[in-house]
Amino acid sequence: MVHRIIAATGNRDKVREFRELAGDLPVEILSLKDIAFTGEIVETGTSFAENARIKARSVWEQTGGLVFADDSGLAIDALDGFPGIYSARFMGEDAPYDLKCAELNRMLDEKNVPREERRARFVCAIAAVFPDGHEELTEADVEGLIIREMRGRNGFGYDPVFYVPEFGCTTAEMSEEQKNLISHRGRAFVQMIPKIREWLEKEESAEG
Ligand code: IMP
Repeated sequence: MVHRIIAATGNRDKVREFRELAGDLPVEILSLKDIAFTGEIVETGTSFAENARIKARSVWEQTGGLVFADDSGLAIDALDGFPGIYSARFMGEDAPYDLKCAELNRMLDEKNVPREERRARFVCAIAAVFPDGHEELTEADVEGLIIREMRGRNGFGYDPVFYVPEFGCTTAEMSEEQKNLISHRGRAFVQMIPKIREWLEKEESAEG
């Protein structure tokens, strides 16, 4: 039996990533576009976890069912975790990422942060709200260094300046499969899979 679950995002790239990561989980993952969701989601949280929870709960309140949402961003150590939950909104949602990346490097230069100390992490929290209203939360991160030059054409957002020393490349130079294996979002979702599987199995056995 295939269960329909909702990813509380309209971002096609993320939904494609989640579908790939779900592997043999017996689910069809629907996006907000698939369900023509028109409600408003206001991200007023002060952490990735809170924002993920707000997104999942807002959609669950309108639809019921099993809903999950992610919230993610880039946190730079020398900038006290900035841009963090403001990663998408930094310099405006529509500002091009080459400008956003250049501005972050300018802020690091202003603080005289040397190349080897430009440590940063991509962080992702995933919240799931189940049909009975209970919640589960997972979180993961991946560490790297902010580099000056932009490298690679894959991925999105800050990927071209996010260098992962163990792999000797930026996340924009990785294939999608490689990035999914190590990424904050990939690993947070992989942690959520057994929780979703457990719920589905319980539901199936209750239905007999
Ligand atoms: P969200 O869609 O509200 O979770 O916003 C996440 C924002 O964080 C994105 O718009 C990017 O700016 C940044 N971000 C999150 N994950 C990644 C990633 O894997 N690569 C590059 N940038 C990311």
